[in-house]
Amino acid sequence: MGKKKKSKRDEIISYAIHVDDPLTYLVYYRDYDQIEQCSLEDFLSMEIVPRHRITLIKKGNRVLYVKHGHCSVCGKKLETSDCKHGS
Ligand SMILES: [Zn+2]
Repeated sequence: MGKKKKSKRDEIISYAIHVDDPLTYLVYYRDYDQIEQCSLEDFLSMEIVPRHRITLIKKGNRVLYVKHGHCSVCGKKLETSDCKHGS
């Protein structure tokens, strides 16, 4: 049975929901070939979008989470996309 350890992403989301305000978090997520962005509040209300599509979470200018291999500015996949921010 063992309790599964929460990922960093899920810890951030859980903190936002229970302690902070999800409206103040910006989420970048993959939608087909595009990266879309919205508040965490809006993301969570779209139950159809799975969390593993999140590539970047910011609060203000602070980057709280970036998925491995993705840009911490635009959330796009590095190298294979048109991201110009470098690593
Ligand atoms: Zn970028």
